[in-house]
Amino acid sequence: MPNNELLRKLNILGAAAKYDASCASSGVDRRGSSKQGALGNSVACGICHSFTPDGRCVSLLKVLQSNDCVYDCKYCVNRRTNDVERATFTPREIATLTYEFYRRNYIEGLFLSSAVIMSPDNTMEIMCETLRLLRQEFSFYGYIHVKAIPGADPLLIEKAGRLADRMSVNIELPSEASLTRLAPQKKKNSIFNSMRYISGRIEEDKSGKLLLRDNLPAPLGETMPKSYGTGSSFSRTFVPGGQSTQLIVGATDDTDHDILTLTENLYNKMQLKRVYYSAYVPAGKDPRLPTLAEPPLLKENRLYHAAWLLRLYGFQSSELFDKNSPNLNLRYDPKCDWAVRNLDLFPVEVNKADYDTLLRIPGIGTISARKIVSARKVGSLGFEELKEMGVVLKRAQYFITCRGKMMPHIKFDTKFIDANLSLDKRAKPIFSNCEKLSLLDYINGGDY
Ligand code: SF4
Repeated sequence: MPNNELLRKLNILGAAAKYDASCASSGVDRRGSSKQGALGNSVACGICHSFTPDGRCVSLLKVLQSNDCVYDCKYCVNRRTNDVERATFTPREIATLTYEFYRRNYIEGLFLSSAVIMSPDNTMEIMCETLRLLRQEFSFYGYIHVKAIPGADPLLIEKAGRLADRMSVNIELPSEASLTRLAPQKKKNSIFNSMRYISGRIEEDKSGKLLLRDNLPAPLGETMPKSYGTGSSFSRTFVPGGQSTQLIVGATDDTDHDILTLTENLYNKMQLKRVYYSAYVPAGKDPRLPTLAEPPLLKENRLYHAAWLLRLYGFQSSELFDKNSPNLNLRYDPKCDWAVRNLDLFPVEVNKADYDTLLRIPGIGTISARKIVSARKVGSLGFEELKEMGVVLKRAQYFITCRGKMMPHIKFDTKFIDANLSLDKRAKPIFSNCEKLSLLDYINGGDY
């Protein structure tokens, strides 16, 4: 059990890390537990995530290296001018905590971020030492997600990238104007240069062209080629879990259109694994900040839904907005909103539409679309057959025909559909009334 001073730091630095949403993990298949003297496993059950109701991951030890920041981002609880208790972990303290918590089954990995301690380089050096201790001294093979500090020397980012599974550089505010206004020490170029560096090295690694440099730790994959990955293919060595980022929403005037256009570019041009959104939690009284009664969780929820349509359903961000509004409709979800604005493309006959068209029907996802395409090969489908197959018609019923007919009692007109969709409970945020879990509660045996 950690001593009192360590518990004090854990309390402060665990709580300070909860505002970072970008800690989900995936895409890593390294196994360490079968190797003598090695600890941890980043495969499936080794990373069975638990999420709080607001989507934040609790299966990782999620802490900051330090909250003693020299920057003064107005929206941040750790800003230099905020009167909060400060703490900084030594690399060995975090490595030991991670090791001990892993052994006790409290966690499956580590999510490590940090405030800027003196300078980006200084901070990255300390974080790299934490990862080095874990990987080399403690032989920890579990999942590690580490933040890169924008502006740090690329060699330090390189060093961290060889030891971590996933890296992220938080953009935080979607435009340069917003950064200048609320986070003047952060520069758009530094953020994107760090992201480009990581993205470039990931691509080199994927194509087998990753050039290794001297005086840096051996890549993780190089030290464990047999256990890393499956089959005979050579393992990936640089940030194998990919790169992610986080945007704070609701702290500035940036529109949903700005945010989703940026998101689309990040997915298409930098191959980001995920873009996370974090509803602004009021953390100060600066006149440049909006006065909010509560975090804009519905906005966050709509953005996640819209980004999902970009990633998996073939939508373009420009399709998701009414030409008169740069923000998403809060009355119902983005797919319903798109469908209502494009009623001339509906109703869709489920027995004839191709897979891509089925995916555009509100309430029909990839699983239902595949089921429909498969089932209609053996017979035409009516509404009863759809229900029996598990296709949820709550929203789809307004936009489809089966054997040429709408569902009974459904009127195919904008007013009727709009009125009924607005009553849908899913129009409300799914992340409301969340309770954030405290790591200390977890250690002390809380029942969640
Ligand atoms: S750099 Fe800005 S956002 Fe990050 S911890 Fe410091 S004040 Fe907060």
